[in-house]
Amino acid sequence: MNFRKGLELSNIRIDEKELLQVVQDLVRIESVNPELAGTGSGEYLVAGHIGNYLAKMGLDVRYQEIKPKRVNVIGVLKGRDEGKSLMLNGHTDTVGITRMDIEPLNPVFRDGKVYGRGSFDMKGGLGAMIIAVKSIVDAGVKLKGDVILAFVADEEYLSVGTEVLVREYPADAAILCEPTNLKICIAHKGFAWIKVEVFGKAAHGSRPDRGIDAIVKAGKYLARIEELGKDVLIQKKHPLLGSPSIHASLIKGGTELSTYPDYCLIELERRFIPGESVKTIEAEIQTLIDDLSSQDEQFKAKCEVSFSRPPLEVARDHEIVSALTRAYSKTMNQAPDFIGVGGWMDSAILAEAGIPSVIIGPAGEGFHAATEYVDFESVITLTKILADTIIDFCGVS
Ligand SMILES: [Zn+2]
Repeated sequence: MNFRKGLELSNIRIDEKELLQVVQDLVRIESVNPELAGTGSGEYLVAGHIGNYLAKMGLDVRYQEIKPKRVNVIGVLKGRDEGKSLMLNGHTDTVGITRMDIEPLNPVFRDGKVYGRGSFDMKGGLGAMIIAVKSIVDAGVKLKGDVILAFVADEEYLSVGTEVLVREYPADAAILCEPTNLKICIAHKGFAWIKVEVFGKAAHGSRPDRGIDAIVKAGKYLARIEELGKDVLIQKKHPLLGSPSIHASLIKGGTELSTYPDYCLIELERRFIPGESVKTIEAEIQTLIDDLSSQDEQFKAKCEVSFSRPPLEVARDHEIVSALTRAYSKTMNQAPDFIGVGGWMDSAILAEAGIPSVIIGPAGEGFHAATEYVDFESVITLTKILADTIIDFCGVS
C-alpha cells in the first residue's frame, strides 16, 4: 500500500503511516477481559500505552482504576472557551485469544487488512480516535469546546468502565467507535434479564393427589412466553430496530425422578426497543402470571427483572448526528446510511447519563471469532470523519 502523506481535510492532515503504527501497537498489547475469558491481562497495559501517547500529544491524561489491573484512561484536549464538548469513546478490552486461526497478538498487515484479536472490535476505532485528535493538534487548530478521549475497560463483560467514566466526565455529545462498517448507528435495543420462580409442592411420585408439579406449571408459563413473542411483541415495530423479542435462556428444577418438583426457576431474556421500559416489561410478565393464576388455582409464581440495560435512540436531527453527517458526506461524497442494531452497546449508558450518543466505526470481520481483521482504508476514512466532526461540533476559535 502506498501511504498518502497527508490528506487534505479542512487544513487537517491524517498521517496514515502513524495511524497504522498506532493500530498495530494496540493489537500487540494483550488486553483480554479476564472476567469474560477466565484469564487475561485486563486493560492496564494498553491503558498505560495510550496514556503515554496522549500525554505526548499534550492532552491532560487521567486514569480511573476500576479494580486491580482494570483501568480507564481519559485524555482531554482543552478547548479555548465555552464551546460544546465532545466525547469519543471506545473500549480497550477484548475477548479471549485462545483457539484462533491467526496469531492473535501479531498485527499482520496484508491486503489492506490489519489482523489480530481486537483489531476490529475495537482497536481500529481506538487508533482512529487518537489520530483524529492528534491531527487537529498537529495542525495547530484551536477548538472552542473540549474533546474527551475515553478509553474504557470492561465493555465486553459488564461495562463497568463507562459506568465509572460518566460519574466524572460529562459531555454535550459522544461518538462511540464500535465497528459499524462506516454506517451511522442511531439506535440499538436494550435488554432485560427476567427471573421467574414457579412454586409447586413436593410429594412422592405415586401421590398425584398431594403433589404439585412446578416443572409442568412452568411449562404453561413458557407456552405463554412463546405466544407473547409470536402474537404480541411482533406487532410492535421500530423503524430501524424491528420488533422486540423474548426467549427462555435457562431452566432449573426438580430433585429426583420419583418426586414431584416443588420449584422451577426459569430465566428469560427480553430484548426491547425505545418506548418500552423495565416497568412495562415487568407489568407484561406479571400479567401472564396473574392470568394463569386465575385459570389454575395451583399455579403460583413470581417474577422480577434481575438486570437490564436500556435501548438507545438519538434523533436524526440532533446536532451530533448532523455534524457527523456533514463530515461523512464531505469525505465520502455521498449521504451516510443510518442503521439500528440489535446488540447492546455502552452508548446507552452514555445516553442515560445525559450524553446523546451515536456510533460509527470501521469495517472488518471477526467479532469474537477465530479470524479477526479490520479494513485499514475504513480506519483512515473514519479518522477523517472524526476529525472533521470534532471541528464542526466543538467549533474553532
Ligand atoms: Zn466492541
